[in-house]
Amino acid sequence: MLVQENIPLAPLTTFRIGGPSRFFVEAKSREEVEQAVAFARQRDLPLFVLGGGSNLVVSDAGWPGLVIKIGIAGIEQQPGMHDGRVRFDVGAGESWDRFVAHAITAQCAGVECLSGIPGSVGGTPVQNVGAYGQEVSGTIESVEVFDRRDGRVRELCNEACGFSYRTSIFNTTERDRFIILQVTYALVPDGNPYLEYADLRRHFEGREIHPNLAETREAVRHIRAGKGMLIVPGDPDCQSAGSFFKNPVVSAEKLDDLKKRASAKGLTIPTYPALEQRHKVSAAWLVEHSGFARGYDAGRVGISHKHALAIVNRGGATAANVLALQEEIQQRVETLWGIRLAPEPVFVGEK
Ligand SMILES: Cc1cc2nc3c(=O)[nH]c(=O)nc-3n(C[C@H](O)[C@H](O)[C@H](O)COP(=O)(O)OP(=O)(O)OC[C@H]3O[C@@H](n4cnc5c(N)ncnc54)[C@H](O)[C@@H]3O)c2cc1C
Repeated sequence: MLVQENIPLAPLTTFRIGGPSRFFVEAKSREEVEQAVAFARQRDLPLFVLGGGSNLVVSDAGWPGLVIKIGIAGIEQQPGMHDGRVRFDVGAGESWDRFVAHAITAQCAGVECLSGIPGSVGGTPVQNVGAYGQEVSGTIESVEVFDRRDGRVRELCNEACGFSYRTSIFNTTERDRFIILQVTYALVPDGNPYLEYADLRRHFEGREIHPNLAETREAVRHIRAGKGMLIVPGDPDCQSAGSFFKNPVVSAEKLDDLKKRASAKGLTIPTYPALEQRHKVSAAWLVEHSGFARGYDAGRVGISHKHALAIVNRGGATAANVLALQEEIQQRVETLWGIRLAPEPVFVGEK
């Protein structure tokens, strides 16, 4: 295990923001994860687990302890199948999109709508990654973890992960307890792509032949690129942490209140079944209708030209710049709409 010192974290994130880590280890095996945890414990260092760095805002002061970057690779298809599904054991350090491409080449359905999401496989259970109607909770069979409480490796079944919209036990009740080592996904061989979302349906409108998995993957990546939600080298609109705010889930009364506030301004809150079902409100709409249009400029940070929900680093931005814009948006949305937006990315280090 190689322990490095004062390693800049900004290049390891999609936002490209943040200071260095005092100590840094890339753990390529379960044993190296164990050794790194022991190193931090012996020196009483705070520990942060880094995946692909695509959902982070790292403090300008960096991280005062040890960062373990999970580098465990490997995609293994289990032999045979049961319940009509094929299982894949995937190392937490694998690129998520590489696994999606692999699954599609193997003609397996269940993750095609999650094409093009950056980050690692180990990052996907943490916030129950989702897009275009699919969430990883729909296909995760189990998650192998290192339990920092007792130093044991355990297997958590899907139900034990407590998945919900953008949450799991890993980012709520058991935050900082488990290091994800491997994830097992159960996919449907020769299954049909999931095409329930309006953007995808529109993309294929007028086609007579049902799109296959590979075409669906390409469509999702194409739509994402148009929104700055695909990492495209050279595109300044994807120097971000993706959607910066979660879609708020509100009570029936709150939704009613929101509709009244909108109608008083001659506006209509966008509702479509996926949002309505869970009383979810579009955070992008709230941001846009609070004076923060796409392309909004706040100096070194701003809002993506392609998506109202992405705060972007326009070059040389600091975490302090991001937090200032975050606060400005939260306050304006709260004043106008009575809702406090919750940020989606994880803040690393001292604010
Ligand atoms: C352009 C863009 C588009 C995006 N689109 C989407 C989208 O459509 N849907 C969506 O849900 N998300 C989206 N995201 C957010 C992000 O890609 C996902 O949340 C991703 O799963 C984060 O994985 P990561 O490996 O990069 O995690 P990181 O950003 O490195 O870490 C995020 C959190 O997970 C924890 N973590 C990471 N790996 C492990 C591990 N092995 N064990 C324990 N904890 C771990 C970290 O400690 C941290 O708390 C987008 C981001 C960007 C930049």
